[in-house]
Amino acid sequence: MATVPLYIRMHAADNVAIVANDGGLPTGATFADGLRLIEHVPQGHKVALVDLPLGSAVLRYNVPIGYALKDIAAGAWVHEKLLQMPAARALDNLPLATIKPVALPPLEGYTFEGYRNADGSVGSRNILAITTTVQCVAGVVEFAVKRIKEELLPRFPHVDDVVGLEHTYGCGVAIDAPDAVIPIRTLRNITLNPNFGGEVMVVSLGCEKLQPERLLPPGTIQIVDERNVADVGVNADAVLDVVCLQSEHHVGFMSMVDSIMQTALLHLERLDARRRETVPASELVVGVQCGGSDAFSGVTANPAVGFATDLLVRAGATVMFSEVTEVRDGIDQLTARASTLEVAEAMIREMAWYDAYLEKGRVDRSANTTPGNKKGGLSNIVEKAMGSIVKSGTAPISGVLSPGEKVRQKGLIFAATPASDFICGTLQLAAGMNLHVFTTGRGTPYGLAEVPVIKVATRSDLARRWHDLMDINAGRIADGDASIEEVGWELFHLMLEVASGRKKTWAEHWKLHNALVLFNPAPIT
Ligand code: CA
Repeated sequence: MATVPLYIRMHAADNVAIVANDGGLPTGATFADGLRLIEHVPQGHKVALVDLPLGSAVLRYNVPIGYALKDIAAGAWVHEKLLQMPAARALDNLPLATIKPVALPPLEGYTFEGYRNADGSVGSRNILAITTTVQCVAGVVEFAVKRIKEELLPRFPHVDDVVGLEHTYGCGVAIDAPDAVIPIRTLRNITLNPNFGGEVMVVSLGCEKLQPERLLPPGTIQIVDERNVADVGVNADAVLDVVCLQSEHHVGFMSMVDSIMQTALLHLERLDARRRETVPASELVVGVQCGGSDAFSGVTANPAVGFATDLLVRAGATVMFSEVTEVRDGIDQLTARASTLEVAEAMIREMAWYDAYLEKGRVDRSANTTPGNKKGGLSNIVEKAMGSIVKSGTAPISGVLSPGEKVRQKGLIFAATPASDFICGTLQLAAGMNLHVFTTGRGTPYGLAEVPVIKVATRSDLARRWHDLMDINAGRIADGDASIEEVGWELFHLMLEVASGRKKTWAEHWKLHNALVLFNPAPIT
């Protein structure tokens, strides 16, 4: 913890910096360079390094995060009420794939112990997932999962967990609306997440709009529909992958539960026969995101994640960054970093689609920042975005995914998703992540049942108070106790440990599981 007054400036051209000290600093506090505070400035909030006349650009990350609404004196607290937010960058005349990146040296020799799947992907956990086609079956599935965990799972020591993939979609929705493609492919691709070992079983109600064959059409996965057993003469030993609750042979609730348990048993047997094997670090598919951000997010945790992102890309892995509204204001940086024209254009397409989506709701990207973000020192979305983008490191962006699409390449990928933590996590699951890295400044206990979530604290104060929820303390960077590179390497090594199952994250330890929340921009009926 810093005992002398300390500020952190992100770029030499910046005319504001943030106060690093726990609890903030009082009027009269004087920094090493002689700058004296003329009022109290809370921790993480900005102090004017020079006089900022009315209308002048306030620079952080060497980017105008706002324009002074009145004269601001050196040493004053620069908060959101003093700043006029800049307009969003138009999506034309952007620099497209203009940065010729310096090739980063390959990082070889790093491995983890993972579960290799038939489709070539690698799981970090060995989980039985029970896919559902509609919310109507959620209660029954929950009941059955509880019994499976109590009565069956103890017999299969090599299976980590059983998870019902509950969601609110499936019926009462305009399923043929163009945008319905997003929730449907999201559910389909989550079912195929590498952590589920290709063992797909489905519980369907029967009358819902999202029929099992629409969710998982022939060719995506081999499914045998329980309802067709008699017709096609499948013998009694066949794996029945779809349990339909309205099926006429179910008499009573317990018949449904028994049927789900019997189906689960066959999948558990196959999952239990699997073993971890040594695979290269290039098999990692890491989704990075942030939530409950503060001004330290973009100073400590996100730069450390960005450093680890570069390590992963150098090791040949896949890293996805997301959260459209939190990168929108840095679109020119991102299109410039695109590896090809096509990638840059795909990124612009996703931004334009999201601009139009927000416009339908008569808001714009500024609806993103929360009261907690502002309390933590982030004045507006421009400042938040600059701190968010650094999670993506410095590698060229080699691909773009639309919401719910599955990733099919290595390298740094922009997976377009809302910034909402649960929706972003759900879409990154669909994209095929086998490991999740989550940075937080205000603090969130976020976790997922489907993949391990490594949480990185931006401040030592949070890491101390939430010592059994945060996996890494990047606050040591602000304290001067560790460098961005050191924390980045620590995170990289922790990722390999967690992916190998040798270490559990705190969210796994406590079983903190947030809901799957689908992104459904289509109408509800
Ligand atoms: Ca988020």
